[in-house]
Amino acid sequence: MKRRVERLRAAAAEAGLDAVLLTSGVNIRYVSGFTSSDAVTLVTERECILFTDFRYTIQAKEQSPDFALCEIRPETLRDRIQEALARNRCRRCGFEQLHMTVAEFQEYRAMPVEFVPFSDEIARLRRIKTPEEIESLRKAQSIADAAYEKLLQTIHSGMTERQVVAELNYISGILGSEGPSFDPIVGSGPNGAMCHAVPGERRLQRGDLVVVDFGCTIDGYHSDMTRTFGVIEVDDAARRVYDIVLEAQQRALAAVKAGIGGREVDAVARDYIASQGYGEHFGHGLGHGFGLEIHEAPRAAMTSHDILEPGMTITIEPGIYLEGNYGVRIEDCCVVTENGKINLVGSPKELLMIS
Ligand code: ZN
Ligand code: ZN
Repeated sequence: MKRRVERLRAAAAEAGLDAVLLTSGVNIRYVSGFTSSDAVTLVTERECILFTDFRYTIQAKEQSPDFALCEIRPETLRDRIQEALARNRCRRCGFEQLHMTVAEFQEYRAMPVEFVPFSDEIARLRRIKTPEEIESLRKAQSIADAAYEKLLQTIHSGMTERQVVAELNYISGILGSEGPSFDPIVGSGPNGAMCHAVPGERRLQRGDLVVVDFGCTIDGYHSDMTRTFGVIEVDDAARRVYDIVLEAQQRALAAVKAGIGGREVDAVARDYIASQGYGEHFGHGLGHGFGLEIHEAPRAAMTSHDILEPGMTITIEPGIYLEGNYGVRIEDCCVVTENGKINLVGSPKELLMIS
């Protein structure tokens, strides 16, 4: 944690700031270790302060020993922060413009300190994962792999999408996940054509392709995978679409390594899908970083300017979505290395059938 504070201070100094105010739960956790989002942290050149209320003081002392604890009530928070800024003679303070309400910003802006947007720089600090962070991600994904294997043994035709989600969350929790990375996506038959289908009362039936997109969390770190399976049997046209998505995914995975652009990796999958005649049916980006949040920098997409570096995370998740019919998506989550990647996902990719 001390090293993260030093890196934050260095980034602040480079931007001409003498303090950084953190207001989002993930960034507070990243620099201080504190796991509740009911807090604010201020890092100046000399001090690290965690502001929280009575409910969390014991937790704060345990989780954030490097931070001075300032117990506040909601109505005293802004005064305590202003005092700390004055005590440290701060003039320019970075803040998270992506995690502040307009009302809060108006209160901060009334202080005799210039508040400077700093969300992008903080996101940049978090892009390269440490070995400990990668280990947490690896554990989260290994639970997800085990959960998916168990899920396929548990579910059957006739179950609703929501029941599949309930099984998935239950199995993941029993296997050790702290909680789902996000509300799992289970899209059966035509619902699979909606990339972010909200699971409903539709029952799995013979001939369906079913898209399952989910993740587990460990130490606050999020895994992310998608598999598409069939119910009893699927027709040859569906198999062909599945094979195209799988080939696109494998080509893109093979392209991942340090130095390649997010746009280039995206193009590998996109060009292949287009060459097979389904270009207009792959309407989203190829992938994203993941970590303390499910979607982080970098991005692999047509509009990405990111260059992959060792230690970055990236998902590779091409899909083909045929409205009124079905969808196919296959997603692995990877860590970029000098010469390639470590694929954290171990679940098989051949088209499996449930009964
Ligand atoms: Zn996903
Ligand atoms: Zn994803």
